Amino acid sequence: MKLIDGKKVANEIKEEIANEVQQIKEEGGKIPHLAAIIVGHDGASETYVGHKEKACTQVGFDSTVLRFEDDIAEDTLLRKVHELNDNPDIDGFIVQLPMPKHISEQKIIEAIDPKKDVDGFHPINIGRVVIGLPAYVSATPAGIIELIKRYNIETSGKDVVVIGRSNIVGKPISILLSQKADPGNATVTLTHSRTKNLKEVVSRADIIIAALGNAEFLTADMVKEGATVIDVGITRVKSDKTKSGWKLLGDVKFDEVAEKAEYITPVPGGVGPMTIVSLLQNTLKAAKGEIYPKF
Ligand code: NAD
Repeated sequence: MKLIDGKKVANEIKEEIANEVQQIKEEGGKIPHLAAIIVGHDGASETYVGHKEKACTQVGFDSTVLRFEDDIAEDTLLRKVHELNDNPDIDGFIVQLPMPKHISEQKIIEAIDPKKDVDGFHPINIGRVVIGLPAYVSATPAGIIELIKRYNIETSGKDVVVIGRSNIVGKPISILLSQKADPGNATVTLTHSRTKNLKEVVSRADIIIAALGNAEFLTADMVKEGATVIDVGITRVKSDKTKSGWKLLGDVKFDEVAEKAEYITPVPGGVGPMTIVSLLQNTLKAAKGEIYPKF
C-alpha cells in the first residue's frame, strides 16, 4: 500500500506558487489578489475562510475578506458581487456557502463574472469543463486530479467508480476522468443513493472515488485487490481520544481497505489539503489570464 500524502503535495504546490509570486514581485508584476465574501457567522464557514486567508498569506497573495451580517438583502449582496466583478485589483473571488435562506445561492453564483469565478461554480465554467475548454475547475475535483498526476496513477482505460453525484465533487470528477485527457480516458461509473448492487459495481473498480459523506462506508469487501482509493468524505465524530473531543472520519474504513489498496488517501491529510491549494492555483491562473486571456 502506498499512501497518497495530500498534505505533503499541498505543501509542495504552495512552495511552487510562493516561488512564482516572488518572481512576479521581483519583475514588478501584479500580485495575485483573492477576495472572499462571507455572510453571517457560521462556524465552519469562518474556519474555511480563515484557512483560505492564511494560505494566501503563506504564498504571498493579497487577500481581502468582505464580511456581512446574515440579514443583508439579496440585492445589496448582488451589488457587492458586481463591485468585485468590476474591481480590476481583484483577480478572483469566492462567495463562501451556505448562504442564509433568504438569499438565492444560484443567483449569487450566476452574478459572479466567470472570469473571476475561481471556485468554478458558475454554470459557464462548469459547461466549459464538460466540453473540455479551459475553465476554472472547482477545488476538490481539481485537487483529486492533481494528486492522481503527482502520483503518476494511470487512469487511461481504467474502470473508475465515483460514489456520490454532488455538483461540487461527484459530477465534476466523473466528467474530468472521462475526458480525452491525461489524467482522463477512464471508463467512469457515477453511482449514488439509488444505485442498485453498489457493492458489486464498486468491487470491479480500478479506482474508487468515495464522496458520499457517510463515515467508513467503504469496507474492504467492496474493494478489488490493488485498487486506488480516493476518500473525499469528511465526517466529524465525537472522540474521547483527542484533545478537542472530536475526530474526522472519511468515507473509507481506512485500516482494512489500506490492506487491499495499492494507493489510498488518508483522512485527514488526503484530499482535504488539496482543496485550498487548488483555489490558490485557480487564483494564480486568473491573475496570469491563463483561462480567460486579459486584454
Ligand atoms: P453531498 O452531501 O451533496 O451528496 C452526497 C452524495 O452521495 C449524493 O449524490 C448521494 O446520492 C450519494 N449517496 C449518499 N448515500 C449514498 C449511499 N449509501 N450509496 C451511494 N451513494 C450515496 O456530497 P458532497 O457535498 O460532495 O460531500 C460528500 C462528502 O465529501 C462529505 O463528507 C463532505 O464533507 C466531503 N467533502 C470534502 C471535501 C474536501 O475538501 N475533502 C470537499 C467537499 C466535500
